[in-house]
Amino acid sequence: MTRSLTILGATGSIGASTLDLIRREREAWRVEALTAHCSAAQLAELAREFDAKLAVVGDESCLPELREALAGSGIEAAGGAAALCDAAARPIDLTVAAIVGCAGLGPVMQAIERGGTIALANKEALVSAGEVMIAAVAEHGATLLPTDSEHNAIFQCLSGSRIEDVARITLTASGGPFREWDMSAIEAATPEQAVAHPNWSMGAKISVDSATMMNKGLEYIEAHHLFPVGLDRLAIVVHPQSVIHSMVEYRDRSTLAQLGPSDMRVPIASCLAWPARMETPLAPLDLAAMGELTFFAPDEERFPATRIAREAIQAGGAAPAVLNAANEIAVAAFLAGQIAFTRIAAVVEETLQTSNLPPRPQNLDEVLAVDRAGRRQAQTIVETGPRV
Ligand code: NAD
Ligand code: MG
Repeated sequence: MTRSLTILGATGSIGASTLDLIRREREAWRVEALTAHCSAAQLAELAREFDAKLAVVGDESCLPELREALAGSGIEAAGGAAALCDAAARPIDLTVAAIVGCAGLGPVMQAIERGGTIALANKEALVSAGEVMIAAVAEHGATLLPTDSEHNAIFQCLSGSRIEDVARITLTASGGPFREWDMSAIEAATPEQAVAHPNWSMGAKISVDSATMMNKGLEYIEAHHLFPVGLDRLAIVVHPQSVIHSMVEYRDRSTLAQLGPSDMRVPIASCLAWPARMETPLAPLDLAAMGELTFFAPDEERFPATRIAREAIQAGGAAPAVLNAANEIAVAAFLAGQIAFTRIAAVVEETLQTSNLPPRPQNLDEVLAVDRAGRRQAQTIVETGPRV
């Protein structure tokens, strides 16, 4: 039986991993829409290869180039934020949400409001919208399949069990490329060093998030919404080998863990085939060759991001959306050479401290308004604050 899918963010790292799996089971899938920010030539090539019905660029100024690249193919082309939402609203079996940042929130909400099944990689959307997104999932009978490797691991470890029996959920963290660096070296870290992750090959933004540990902070908030066991039952442990992707401990003290290679095609395959299983081209796990798995407590002195994220979700309301907005601005500023690496977490914390935090957003428009205000405040702090 053929299933239909749309990939939001098809030209990125998650998009490429998803399409690699689809390419291997071409006859099992019909591609409805593929989207990108701009990269019109790359998007057009993918749309042609996968015989998509629709290709969309979020940046409308790239639409003429997309139209030209698709000329004669019969593939529909569209551009702009509203076109992304329209693409996400088309009825299909599975939406892969792989846009980076809060830019993906509108389209994800469209897919949810259609009552669809969504493989959610776009963690920033859930961090920003939190309760609004979870309420919409319930209201519209949508299904969220966690694609982030940790949350996918937890989802698998919870299968067949009752959430009331969970004593603790532990997210594993690689610790990033600077795990063993001292403070002065971390301060001087360059964008090139920050994006060179030891275990995972990912987009630039999430690579920087992994280096600051804000990725784990965002994932902590993400886990809180996906698996409502309470913040006191959510823990983080550093596990540099990235073999155990997360764990669930039950009240009888049984701990279930999901293990696998550090390749996003594993959790993506689990979402594509869910609730069944599919083949992936990955080598079997060789634990004897690996030798050791090690674990450390997070160091929140050198890497304060997990503390800041925990405090934001404890504060609740608009704080997580402001945290995410500020982090997106700070990471972009760091990648552009405007601020030092250690300023990223500082900008996020200063933005949270100086923002006039409104009460918890009640709908998508209110979330987006908080996001815009958070970005403005963070941008001011970037421009007027110290470089280091
Ligand atoms: P990426 O930068 O490689 O790709 C992002 C995709 O989104 C691209 O297709 C890009 O064109 C599109 N995009 C970017 N900005 C956009 C905008 N403003 N409007 C519309 N489209 C836009 O990112 P990635 O590493 O694939 O990550 C995607 C998401 O998945 C992120 O939320 C990330 O945190 C999450 N994630 C990624 C990995 C990984 O291994 N890469 C693992 C877990 C979770
Ligand atoms: Mg992850």
